[in-house]
Amino acid sequence: MILRKMFIFVGFVLLLGCGGPGADAPSSDVNPFFADYDTPFNVQPFDRIEEAHFVPAFEEGMANQNGEIAAIVVNPEAPTFDNTIVALDRSGELHNEVSRVFFALSGSNTNDELQEIQKQMAPRLAAHRDEIQLNPGLFVRVKAVYDEREALDLNAEQLFLLEHLYKRYVRNGALLGDEDQTRLKEINQRLSGLRVEFSRNLLAETNGFELVIEDEADLAGLPDAVIETAAANAQHEDLENSWVFTTHKPSLLPFLTYAEDRNLREQLFTAYTVRGNQNNEYDNKAIMAEIVNLRVEKAQLLGYDTFADYTLEIRMAGTPDKVYGLLDQLWEAALPVAKREVVEMQAIIDADGGGFELAPWDWWFYAEKQRLAKYDLDDNELRPYFELNNVRDGVFYVANQLYGLTFEELEDMPKPHPDAQVFEVFEADGSHAAVIYMDYHPRESKRGGAWCGRFRSQNRAAGVEVDPVINLVCNFTTATEDTPALLSLDEVETLFHEFGHALDGILASVTYRTSFRSPDFAELPSQIMEHWAMAPEVLKVYARHYQTGEPIPDELIAKIENSTTFNQGFMLVEYLAASLLDMEYHTLIETTDLDINAFEGTYFDEIGLIPEIVSRYRTTYFAHIVGSYAAGYYGYTWAGVLDHDAFEAFNESSLFDQETAQRFRTSILEVSGSQDYMDMWVNFRGREPEIEPLLRNLGLQ
Ligand SMILES: [Zn+2]
Repeated sequence: MILRKMFIFVGFVLLLGCGGPGADAPSSDVNPFFADYDTPFNVQPFDRIEEAHFVPAFEEGMANQNGEIAAIVVNPEAPTFDNTIVALDRSGELHNEVSRVFFALSGSNTNDELQEIQKQMAPRLAAHRDEIQLNPGLFVRVKAVYDEREALDLNAEQLFLLEHLYKRYVRNGALLGDEDQTRLKEINQRLSGLRVEFSRNLLAETNGFELVIEDEADLAGLPDAVIETAAANAQHEDLENSWVFTTHKPSLLPFLTYAEDRNLREQLFTAYTVRGNQNNEYDNKAIMAEIVNLRVEKAQLLGYDTFADYTLEIRMAGTPDKVYGLLDQLWEAALPVAKREVVEMQAIIDADGGGFELAPWDWWFYAEKQRLAKYDLDDNELRPYFELNNVRDGVFYVANQLYGLTFEELEDMPKPHPDAQVFEVFEADGSHAAVIYMDYHPRESKRGGAWCGRFRSQNRAAGVEVDPVINLVCNFTTATEDTPALLSLDEVETLFHEFGHALDGILASVTYRTSFRSPDFAELPSQIMEHWAMAPEVLKVYARHYQTGEPIPDELIAKIENSTTFNQGFMLVEYLAASLLDMEYHTLIETTDLDINAFEGTYFDEIGLIPEIVSRYRTTYFAHIVGSYAAGYYGYTWAGVLDHDAFEAFNESSLFDQETAQRFRTSILEVSGSQDYMDMWVNFRGREPEIEPLLRNLGLQ
């Protein structure tokens, strides 16, 4: 009890220390992070949080946690699971709270001030994390509990937490000598600074290019909705009689798919692929080279051959060999298919009297022609059936049919951005399950892509149930003056995908705050949702024409089904090239003077990547592997094996089979992050995963 008072005291001193007025003082007197939120469901008071609140809140959060950690270390009682592991799990509540809000807003609603804070705080946050991870007194106590684990009568969740916490210490250098620990701290701080620089450069490069069209004739081939969006982009910048296209995907992909002007396609595509590789102030080559080398050094400092060995040890895949085993098998199957696709598209070009060879910026254009010829599937014919709110209701329908969840939109809630929708999620018995924010469209303050984060994770660490607050963020096609937001097939799948991550958070039922997730497993809940998105019975429910309300006709559904193996060679080769490149960087066994462009080029030649396809990501904009997907981009495909095999379990019974859904919920979704990945899988499927359903569904077998 005495120790508890001590933490409060530490916090109190700091609160006084940062309360006075100053040049950067926030306009409101109270920093919302330091008071009760007094909001519905205790969601974060986004309307009251200002940029200037973050640094003081980070500082107090770190100081609080340092006090809590110090108290664990000096506890005169012998180390126990409760006074060490549970106490550690509970520590840092304010720090975690501020971090979640700050990083969520940095991703979806950033500005110069937040970017500056991020740059300033990144090394300090890394140092704070290391202070805890490398605290020798704390490690001694964790190790003491770990060494006694057999005798402690722990349940499976407690044992998992203890073993992974211990392993985390060891992996963070707890068994290293002083000199090596100091070097490790330096490496970690440098890496985290480099990550920030990389993202900032990438954002600047992505926003820095615009294709401005002034001659209407250059728009030939583009659908009206795409033209309208481009005109709106131009108006936004006060450009008269112009159309603006950017390297953001919702602008880039329709342009590559429909624009008849080959030179313009080349310009925009090239602008996309040279991001971070232009030898200007935003160049990412030297940054990536340094990151790769620092990772080699880090892995070897910790006793691993390569960074991939280090990373994969705690993933479901386990070793680089297992990853290459999967990627190589798929690469061999996919490359001949992609080569056949090249021949087919070249035939179209030749038949049109094109007189040129297929280039990367032609692929989407001719794939679309091919799709129309082969499957008669026109994305613009589909879009009217995929009005955003209808698709969202389809997602809710699937969650309802599988798990009995219902959703109700909430008004007057504080939001991370005014454009976000907010829903309360209810269990089948009507009890509160979660709050979810859904933020759909691109803007300059948002990074690209789609993701699902958590403003709060479910847990009962402090003895009371904490309900989840989920944040789903996308970059979907926007509404125009004449039409609501009509999504592409890809965007529909993306919404179902991200909602799968949301379900993983909504249905969680764990005790502790600390969880350990493996990205190659974490994509199972999301990717399996894509199967329901395209199931005919489900399409009939949500895919309704936005004007007439008519359900999508059978012949369109048949076309979607026929087209599932369409362009699969390209999609796989594009993705696998990036996955293999990621592994190639992270299986380097020594630091080298890395010439990024040469490394990439040589490697792609070696594996036989064809010149008509550019890797899904080139190094200088491969943000995944700068972040937590290093030696982990393969995970989507690993999870692909799992999701196809898992969905097969529903195929074996029925689409919404309640017994299978219940087993998926209890074996996977509820315990995710708190149990061994293979155990979870086997509890659900009754055996280890099999690759055949994936190969079959992709038309590769
Ligand atoms: Zn995902």
